[in-house]
Amino acid sequence: MEILDGKKISNQIKDEIAAEVAKMKENGEKVPHLAAIIVGNDGASLTYVGSKVRSCKRVGFESTLVQMPSTTSEVELLKKIKELNENSDIDGFIVQLPLPDQIDTQKVIMAIDPDKDVDGFHPTNFGKMALDMSTFIPATPFGILELLERYGVETQGKHTVVIGRSHIVGRPMSILMGRKGFPGNSTVTLTHSRTKNITQITSQADIIISALGVPKFLKAEMVKDDVVIIDVGITRVPDDTKEKGYYITGDVDFEHVSKKASYITPVPGGVGPMTIAMLMKNTLLARERHRSRK
Ligand code: NAP
Repeated sequence: MEILDGKKISNQIKDEIAAEVAKMKENGEKVPHLAAIIVGNDGASLTYVGSKVRSCKRVGFESTLVQMPSTTSEVELLKKIKELNENSDIDGFIVQLPLPDQIDTQKVIMAIDPDKDVDGFHPTNFGKMALDMSTFIPATPFGILELLERYGVETQGKHTVVIGRSHIVGRPMSILMGRKGFPGNSTVTLTHSRTKNITQITSQADIIISALGVPKFLKAEMVKDDVVIIDVGITRVPDDTKEKGYYITGDVDFEHVSKKASYITPVPGGVGPMTIAMLMKNTLLARERHRSRK
């Protein structure tokens, strides 16, 4: 069994990006600038945004954090998005999800300039991805592809089972694993909460990408020997014995499943850090796009 070490690979990617940024600085060029909007003070969202801002510093990007109160109206948020769309100094930006109930998430995603949509959630970018056109691939699926590629995990002709059909992870992952090329050329089964006999399906899988958010959902008896496991799940489980009052766990019963797997991602230290590294990569791409349009 080999660990797919997202922490290590994400650090390599950040080093590569930092080297490119250093060259830009040497040449007196403008460095990439990422902005993030966060509405409200959800603990997990603040942690994610904090890591994104720290990663910008680490690679030498400029960053701007826009914090808005949980009472922010949809109109106010759309106005802020318009400002960022029009600000030529900003190459890309994200709106941290989830948003408070009074705000329509789809409307917000639609308002972002597709050329600055480094999360890759805008329908234009999602459509391009589905059509194999060059675009921003959502950071979590992009990170999973990069991990498979850098470890040379064979995907061609394999049966990939994706658990979860969210717009940000499961759905794009199912499209990307089935596309022509590497990583890809897989035969994909997309499963969700209405799937019947899921164990029958997972036990035939060569690769399982689990993104449902149910701690230890995937058990050893649900997988075959030598399976490749990508655990996207991140759940905070309350635990008074921990300093933070919780611990983080994935969708996979790591202790037992890892004994059968050929490759497996840990949680934490697997897909999570890859997601942030690929957001940096998308920001670099956004900056190149802007320069080529000028
Ligand atoms: P989501 O929007 O809540 O979607 C969950 C999906 O899982 C849904 O499609 C749901 O089916 C399916 N599901 C729920 N219970 C199921 C069950 N018992 N059997 C089969 N399918 C089931 O979640 P998400 O945003 O994709 O996130 C999933 C997990 O990944 C969460 O733990 C999240 O924190 C984590 N995450 C991690 C990263 C990272 O960087 N590592 C990034 C994003 C998300 P229905 O569609 O039928 O409801």
